[in-house]
Amino acid sequence: MRIVRTVREAREATRGARRPWGFVPTMGAVHAGHLALAARAREENSAVAASIFVNPLQFGPDEDFARYPRAFADDCAAFAAAGVDVLFAPDVEQIYPDGFATTVDPGPVGDVFEGALRPGHFRGVATVCAKLFAVVGAERAYFGAKDAQQVAVLRRVIADLSLPVDLRVVPTVREADGLALSSRNVYLSAGERAAAPALYAALAYVAEAVRSGRRDREAMLAEARRRIVAPLREAYLDLVDPLTFRPTADLAKASLAIGSVWAGTTRLIDNVPISAAAERAA
Ligand code: AMP
Repeated sequence: MRIVRTVREAREATRGARRPWGFVPTMGAVHAGHLALAARAREENSAVAASIFVNPLQFGPDEDFARYPRAFADDCAAFAAAGVDVLFAPDVEQIYPDGFATTVDPGPVGDVFEGALRPGHFRGVATVCAKLFAVVGAERAYFGAKDAQQVAVLRRVIADLSLPVDLRVVPTVREADGLALSSRNVYLSAGERAAAPALYAALAYVAEAVRSGRRDREAMLAEARRRIVAPLREAYLDLVDPLTFRPTADLAKASLAIGSVWAGTTRLIDNVPISAAAERAA
């Protein structure tokens, strides 16, 4: 695996005859979720690039940018073992040099739920992904279903800016008890970790209720909310259209049960698609 640090090197390393390229953007602290993206990219492409960049533009001023877990040596070993050909690991000045001023605003889909709790977050995500796509030039980019709103935002950005990249979504990798893998799970205390699977359980409950034919949306959501108990606190729980993140008209066909909880100062997110159509969209 070749490790490249500059935009110029990354461009050179990912051009050439061996095509198509699959691209896996990450913030590092690699876990089995990231490796599932790399494995899909490996299966479906002739060459694979990954990136590790903790993107300051997507963190709020009171968020965890400074203490976000960083594990570069282990990440390199894991990506090399997963068959990644090129790893792009730029520093902040490579991506945001002096004078940097242009950003990508994804519009309304970026303003609700995660976007409401983290103002500017999706502008940061959209901007860095547009830049990374431009640098790496891969035909396909791989994202995790766990971050469903990120997928919705990036679908919008790719369509609206006519970016020549095919976004592919990989199902969420979970611990045995249902908790979605996340680099931020290391922040959880033992008590918070023990309680955390309740988020997935609540979402799986509401998804199953819809699948079983129920349409009393508010009652179903209230029942699901009762599963979120201390030390967890609900941030939001809802049923939305996976493309727009607005309430869905047809609960069965195209909705996604989404949720987020606070565990101390850590916030966890997760989602469960109601149907195969919703899963494809997310
Ligand atoms: P991050 O490093 O957290 O920004 O995540 C990089 C990519 O990995 C994103 O596309 C995430 O959606 C994806 N990802 C994170 N956690 C998981 C998971 N548990 N299962 C599948 N993909 C994931």
